[in-house]
Amino acid sequence: MSLSLKLPPAFLRRLRVRIRGGIQGVGFRPFIDRLARENELGGWVLNDGDGVLVEIEGERTGAFLDALQSGAPRLARIAHVDVSEIPPVGAADFEIRESAGGDIRTVTPPDQPVCSDCLAELFDPEDRRHLYPFINCTNCGPRFTLVRRLPYDRSNTSMSDFPLCRQCAEEYASRSDRRFHAEPTACPTCGPRLDHSIGEILARLRAGEIVAIKGLGGFHLVCDAKSELPVARLRRRKDRDEKPFAVMAANVASVRRWAHCDEREAALLESGAHPIVVLRSRGRGLVSGIAPGLRSLGFMLPTTPIHHLLFHAAAGSANGVDWLAAPQGLVLVMTSANPGGEPLVTDDREAERRLSGIADFIVGHNREIVTRADDSVARVVNGATAFIRRARGYVPQPIELAQSLPPILAVGAQLKNTVCVIRGNEAFVSQHVGSLDNPEAIRFFEETAEHLLRILDVRPEVIAHDLHPDFASTQYAHTWELPLVPVQHHLAHVAAVTAEHRVTGAVLGLALDGFGLGPNAESWGGELLWLEGVRWRRLGHLRELLQPGGDAAATQPWRMGAAALFALGREAEIAIRFADQTGSRVIADMLCKRINSPPSSSCGRLFDAACGLLNVVPRASFEGQAPMVLEDLVESPSILDGGWTECDGVLDLRPLLAHLVDCSPRAGAEIFHGTLIAALTDWVRSAAVRTGTSQVVLSGGCLLNRVLAAGLVRELGRVGLEALLPIQLPPNDGAVSLGQAWVAGLLWSGEDCGADGARPCA
Ligand code: ZN
Ligand code: ZN
Ligand code: FE
Repeated sequence: MSLSLKLPPAFLRRLRVRIRGGIQGVGFRPFIDRLARENELGGWVLNDGDGVLVEIEGERTGAFLDALQSGAPRLARIAHVDVSEIPPVGAADFEIRESAGGDIRTVTPPDQPVCSDCLAELFDPEDRRHLYPFINCTNCGPRFTLVRRLPYDRSNTSMSDFPLCRQCAEEYASRSDRRFHAEPTACPTCGPRLDHSIGEILARLRAGEIVAIKGLGGFHLVCDAKSELPVARLRRRKDRDEKPFAVMAANVASVRRWAHCDEREAALLESGAHPIVVLRSRGRGLVSGIAPGLRSLGFMLPTTPIHHLLFHAAAGSANGVDWLAAPQGLVLVMTSANPGGEPLVTDDREAERRLSGIADFIVGHNREIVTRADDSVARVVNGATAFIRRARGYVPQPIELAQSLPPILAVGAQLKNTVCVIRGNEAFVSQHVGSLDNPEAIRFFEETAEHLLRILDVRPEVIAHDLHPDFASTQYAHTWELPLVPVQHHLAHVAAVTAEHRVTGAVLGLALDGFGLGPNAESWGGELLWLEGVRWRRLGHLRELLQPGGDAAATQPWRMGAAALFALGREAEIAIRFADQTGSRVIADMLCKRINSPPSSSCGRLFDAACGLLNVVPRASFEGQAPMVLEDLVESPSILDGGWTECDGVLDLRPLLAHLVDCSPRAGAEIFHGTLIAALTDWVRSAAVRTGTSQVVLSGGCLLNRVLAAGLVRELGRVGLEALLPIQLPPNDGAVSLGQAWVAGLLWSGEDCGADGARPCA
């Protein structure tokens, strides 16, 4: 925030205050009104196309400006404040004026957890919303997930099915009420209803049943996190893979019984979005089937009144809020209800159809979820928030760009898809859509793109997409009869980070990623780029490994282990070392004859190779599982002298791989991480010297690895380089849409806008 005028206190002035940001539909004008009255100021406030405009006159304008920063409504996001002095006109009263019309650029706020005022009412037996599962107010409750179209008014949300009762209508219309213009407001008389009692739900959970419960952005599958049987049954019924389940605990005090949680992690758990926070497990009490093979555990706090009511009932149904902070015994597995990798279930009838084979009991309600949103997942790396998945609670909060761009839709990648819409100097990245590998997911992806354009009122002029012709997102881009701009995958990765950090000069971009297509259809994924605006070039890459069987290698690390042996000239050892893997002879043969074994510079496959050689999860149930387990083994990374060489920009880690052949998993994990960090630092430093660049942006799915991310930032800093990590988006393909949009926008607004996209320059 910038305040362009500093004023002495107690001096009669009239000021015009322009406020920009996410400040409409969040109770901002009543806040300004109250603030002006408290400071005995005259004047007015109105919404217009640019945000909120205020004129104040009196002696305490300084106090007004101070409180503007500190006391703003919880959902308000103030981006800029500009203050100018104008001649006083002698106004004593303050008023809220009608909107000035024009092109009002509203943004629906993200969904919010229950606020403390609502919790106080929820557990107050005298309150008319006592124990009401849909309590909310101007500061909390569902938002993004129930809006159908602009403007953000009740009539344009799924609350339009619930006409306000007299009391709710009075609160909604009263400027002094904390539900003034709370669009989703409701009460037991007029609002939505839960179709089963809290008592029954809790009894079934305690009896070991799996219960599907409708949340803000979709259904969760819920069971007791402390009993083996339901957790094992849930894992068996949901899908065969071993992806970790998230766990919900009543409060931070309860979380700390099961996991280490420092102050920053606690703040993230309790932050406005209430994401799942990945913490280090204390390794006792909770069922091991929740996160097989991992020492980390994803926790979240209750987000909806329904969750709070469950914990309240389990804690003995006390009146008041004193019980809220005390440690509680109830801990619940709370995992997305997305059977078979298809999108999250949101609709009650759909729940009956898709979840009846998984859940023993389904709890729905009659408030429709308009837009699906998974739980967000984050953790703390180097003291800062690092996203793993960005969705509920953050979307559709925009990312502010360094400059305005033409209206653009960027359709993202194939895995961990998101889409991005540009409106002026703001980039709106959608919620996590997921892998576009089934028709349901592709439909959700298309709906997401079209819904985001609708609620932002944007008509794109350009569609940006990945170079890969087979991505479902690329194919969708071609259905728009608009100019298309293809953007290389790793250029998009690093451009996303430059976009959010508003870097406009030349930078190095280090993409440590799974897979992306290069400009000549190569398999890229461990890339060192140089870029400045839309000009870029590939300075170097990890030395390629063959990827036997193509994509299959991503979930069978032993295959990459075999490829590493082949790269070391030790192909004769493959069949012996991997004798317990069916097909090891065939793979050895494929490598020697280069059959269906494309070379790849992917860093993800390098991690897989290390896992394969160390026999860490040789066959994984999902991409990235083995490297997660490998990362978990690291206590203190060490460096192998001579573990790498560099030639013409190609970083060759074969000496390190050769060393791993004879390592234990633990020692191998530590020397692999430490040496990789040292090698990458060395590599980047020499490129920085060559190009005269001192900033490096880090991106790609491998940076979800906390040891790698924190180590690189530290070591690059030590050699005098400034390393920038993604902050507002995850480092994985969830950020690709933003990078596509930024590159395409710069190209399209620049002079040499070529329809062939951002080609690397010589
Ligand atoms: Zn509230
Ligand atoms: Zn009511
Ligand atoms: Fe990627």
